[in-house]
Amino acid sequence: MSFSIHRAVVTAVRTLTPGMVRVTFGGDGIADYPTTGIGDEYVRLFFPPQQDAEPVLPHSTGESWAFEDDVTPSQMRTYTIRAVDRAAGTVDIDFVVHDGGVAAAWALRAAPGNVVGITSPTGLYDPPADLEWQILLADATGLPAAARIAEQTPDGVRTRIVIEVGHVDDVQEITGRDLEVSWVIGGNGHGPSCFDEVVRDLAVPEGVGYIWFAGETSVMRGVRKQLRHVRKLPNQAYKTIGYWTVDVERWVERWNGLDEATRAEIDALWDGWDAPGTDQEAITDAYHEQLERLGL
Ligand SMILES: Cc1cc2nc3c(=O)[nH]c(=O)nc-3n(C[C@H](O)[C@H](O)[C@H](O)COP(=O)(O)OP(=O)(O)OC[C@H]3O[C@@H](n4cnc5c(N)ncnc54)[C@H](O)[C@@H]3O)c2cc1C
Repeated sequence: MSFSIHRAVVTAVRTLTPGMVRVTFGGDGIADYPTTGIGDEYVRLFFPPQQDAEPVLPHSTGESWAFEDDVTPSQMRTYTIRAVDRAAGTVDIDFVVHDGGVAAAWALRAAPGNVVGITSPTGLYDPPADLEWQILLADATGLPAAARIAEQTPDGVRTRIVIEVGHVDDVQEITGRDLEVSWVIGGNGHGPSCFDEVVRDLAVPEGVGYIWFAGETSVMRGVRKQLRHVRKLPNQAYKTIGYWTVDVERWVERWNGLDEATRAEIDALWDGWDAPGTDQEAITDAYHEQLERLGL
């Protein structure tokens, strides 16, 4: 599917919990929105310079996007498609509303008629064939994806979900077949995460299974180390995705402060990522080891 960019108009806004706002997008640009149907499909959103202004939209370059030379590019952030309603011609996105941030501030003020740009989606959830069980672990940012995956999981697959939210009031209802949901309170930029303990104590069932994690990057690294290096799960048995970074401003400052050769060396680690036979998890190991060594 070639990459596309759509103009999306807010049609409704609903506060789900004190920490999460659901925004429904519609309009002509969304009428034939090219969903993949994958539960954690994510998109790039392009925000306008002011809340009620028109965003500057990039154009598709086939596999990515680019802005014209003479424009100020819109601020871009990554979000999950929580739901697609073909009949209504809308998509829902659930925003964590935290302090600071272009996207969170936009979502807090979102009102019908506001416009953003939205790309076509990509999914990462990729369980093995003949799946018998899955464990979905997420912080508040991964909650929309985990909830959609659970809703879409077919009969015959046992699903266990553990979600970490910052406050007990941020607990939501999650529905699905053969589903067990637990909530832990912590992490999410408010304090230490419980996931180290959760994953260390995780009872992993027999049979064909899949463990999926989405959340803050340093928490993700701890979870990934447990799954890959302590439990020694094979690559296809898990997926761990960093959705955001605590104090990202400091991270960016440190990254920009690295000398060019070091940055180039780190970027070069991704060369060959898509080549047949590449062990992508080995590349990911090397990437995280390098960054951790540099305090990133
Ligand atoms: C594949 C993918 C899917 C995602 N899906 C969703 C989704 O469905 N819903 C969702 O809410 N987020 C989702 N995210 C995370 C979202 O992209 C980030 O939280 C993003 O940084 C928010 O942008 P911002 O402009 O609000 O904040 P930024 O400008 O990026 O950051 C401003 C400040 O806020 C902090 N910050 C950023 N995010 C959070 C947070 N969640 N909690 C506390 N502090 C934060 C930063 O460290 C920084 O200090 C997803 C990310 C990825 C990669």
